[in-house]
Amino acid sequence: MYILECWIEHPVRQLNQTFSYLSDEPCEQGVRVIVDFNGRKITGFVETCVQTGKTPEELEQEYGYTLKYAEEILDSESLLTEELHDLAHWMSRETLSTRISCFQAMLPAKIKPLSNRREIVREQWVTLSDKEVSLTPKQLEAYQYVQNQGTMLYSVLRKQYPNQAKALVEKGALILQEKEKEAAALSIQETSEPLALTPEQAQVFTEIQASRDMVFLLQGVTGSGKTEVYLQLAQEILKQGRQVLILVPEISLTPQMIDRVSSRFGNTLAIYHSGLNDQEKYEQYRMVKEKKARVVVGTRSAVFLPFHDLGLIVMDEEHDPSYKQENQPAYHCRDIAIHRAQYHHCKIVLGSATPSLDSYARAIRGVYHLVTLKHRINETLPKVDILSLRECMKKGQSYILSDPLKEKIAQRLEKHQQVILLLNRRGYSSVLRCRECQEPVICPHCDIAMSYHREERVMKCHTCGTILPVPRVCPECGSTAGYTSYGFGTQRLEETLQEAFPDARLLRMDADTTSRKNSHQKILEQFGRHEADILLGTQMIAKGLDYPDVTLVGVLNGDDGLNRTDYRSCETTFDLLMQAGGRSGRAEEPGEVVYQVYNTDHYAVQCAARQDYETFFRYEMQFRHAGQYPPYTYLIALTFTDKNEKKAEETARWYDQNLQGEFRKIGVISLNKIQDRYRKRILLKGKDLAKMKEAVAELLERSESRYTKDVRIDVNPMVLD
Ligand code: ADP
Ligand code: ZN
Ligand code: ZN
Repeated sequence: MYILECWIEHPVRQLNQTFSYLSDEPCEQGVRVIVDFNGRKITGFVETCVQTGKTPEELEQEYGYTLKYAEEILDSESLLTEELHDLAHWMSRETLSTRISCFQAMLPAKIKPLSNRREIVREQWVTLSDKEVSLTPKQLEAYQYVQNQGTMLYSVLRKQYPNQAKALVEKGALILQEKEKEAAALSIQETSEPLALTPEQAQVFTEIQASRDMVFLLQGVTGSGKTEVYLQLAQEILKQGRQVLILVPEISLTPQMIDRVSSRFGNTLAIYHSGLNDQEKYEQYRMVKEKKARVVVGTRSAVFLPFHDLGLIVMDEEHDPSYKQENQPAYHCRDIAIHRAQYHHCKIVLGSATPSLDSYARAIRGVYHLVTLKHRINETLPKVDILSLRECMKKGQSYILSDPLKEKIAQRLEKHQQVILLLNRRGYSSVLRCRECQEPVICPHCDIAMSYHREERVMKCHTCGTILPVPRVCPECGSTAGYTSYGFGTQRLEETLQEAFPDARLLRMDADTTSRKNSHQKILEQFGRHEADILLGTQMIAKGLDYPDVTLVGVLNGDDGLNRTDYRSCETTFDLLMQAGGRSGRAEEPGEVVYQVYNTDHYAVQCAARQDYETFFRYEMQFRHAGQYPPYTYLIALTFTDKNEKKAEETARWYDQNLQGEFRKIGVISLNKIQDRYRKRILLKGKDLAKMKEAVAELLERSESRYTKDVRIDVNPMVLD
């Protein structure tokens, strides 16, 4: 008899412990089992399997209760490699989340240990048997058809020989076998040749190759040829027979990137992203596990694929927020990627035009090896116009579309050129501005804009928790005209545009219009075929700026984020402005970019217009230092949600009282309600992340801990409002 220690998902509490079950057969670590837990059949993950000579009675004595038998062992071999098993444990400690949630995050949905089992698609194949049977001429023809192929899908045979296929199987001439469905092999020709590197690219390429360092930060302005450097580094690794992982943000997984990789490396490519259905993900997973895929292009979750011999990891647009998982386990893909690179002794290249502040700060300290590309391949930058909304509003113009911007749009429409309008939406509805001078309400303690809570009609600071009434008199200009939210969404913008340009064909892209699979891609393709004149949308279209007919890109509400409701919102806004400003003028007409902003001389606006990352970095680091925000400190956010506000508050208070250590505790702060759930938060801020994590972990493990699914823990949170 064997004792299995299994990780299982508790329906309410987040438990980080295994439960014991019996089995007559042995099994491997990482195999899934069905077990009974309080009368429910749920799936668990085997951690250990130990043989025992004891009788059930002796075991009952030892454990103090009757051990149950596992109902079923689902897999014959482990789903995870040893590396991934250890990674789950490491990740669980790093993100302060349960082991089982880490296993779940790592596996495609088809094989996740969830309570309701999902079926894996199986296919029937036929092969020849060596049995001698007499066949009709037509049956013989069908038999020979299979013989020529060796083995084939039963469905294909039935289609070809609808009247013979079944008879051949029944007579025993053919053997029917079930196999798991395999990913259709991509049949892609390797059509593109490596480009001759520019001297700057060659310098970066050689430096990375020659260095003994492991983590590289490649900072290169947009269009400087970073992708070509990735591809050539990858090629060297493939020559050695090792695997390559190229990580891309959720949104930029446009056909362009896939085309570029696949046309270079052909059939050995696997693609892994959230647009795949469960079966497709599962098939790609197996392609990697069985070493059929040698290059993988994928989004965040591709970092968990079961590679055997990774030789290189590339993380493009490393600053992108989609690399951070918001749900538990709230991991950052970069941390996982670096951890895996260490395991495989391979290099990892983080690339971006606007690296995250944390990464750049590490590169400057020498933790990462910094390499830079300062020049664009085609040397031209579009002209950036900074338009003052304040001035325009003084003249009575619309704060959604100012007159000068309208005029520029009209000119393009007349010439049958295309326009892209980007709407910066972070926290748009919660910032209030003075009707007279458009200054927002700033927290007296944080230098961060306060968020308006509509239901309670008060201003709250999401960083320190200060609550204030909406001011009667503007402290900036003395006006009593009152405050209002100048925020607007994409829908409102669409209406305004349609009114101003009744004949223009508009395409809108935001969370509402892209909820369906591939709709994101379809909209971009439609726009690429010039079936619309104006594309408007949120940050998500920032990556699709490179269309030959687009000669104007406008960023609206360009600096709403600069009146931070979050310590990082300035960085996010800068990224967006840079991306818009960095669009290459591929068209005959030089590209033009307009930032429609309130603070024309804010450093983020000015630096983005000049594509000057370094100066922005220096300014922003001063702000972070003054406020003691990351990367000068570490944060851990604990968020408590409940439909019942009192309960959320109570749990938060309990944590607040019981969490002790060398860090500041900020909170309990009330956040805006989301989907009818009240949200309360405690923020830990300190210099020693390890100690902070320890304090939280200790509390979670205490038996009276209130660690339920309504508690969300985020180590190094990216978003605070
Ligand atoms: P980034 O990834 O830095 O934004 P890309 O890799 O997309 O830049 O390069 C921008 C453009 O320059 C692409 O169209 C690419 O094909 C082209 N390009 C890159 N490297 C070279 C090179 N060495 N010679 C010629 N064209 C190049
Ligand atoms: Zn004012
Ligand atoms: Zn504050």
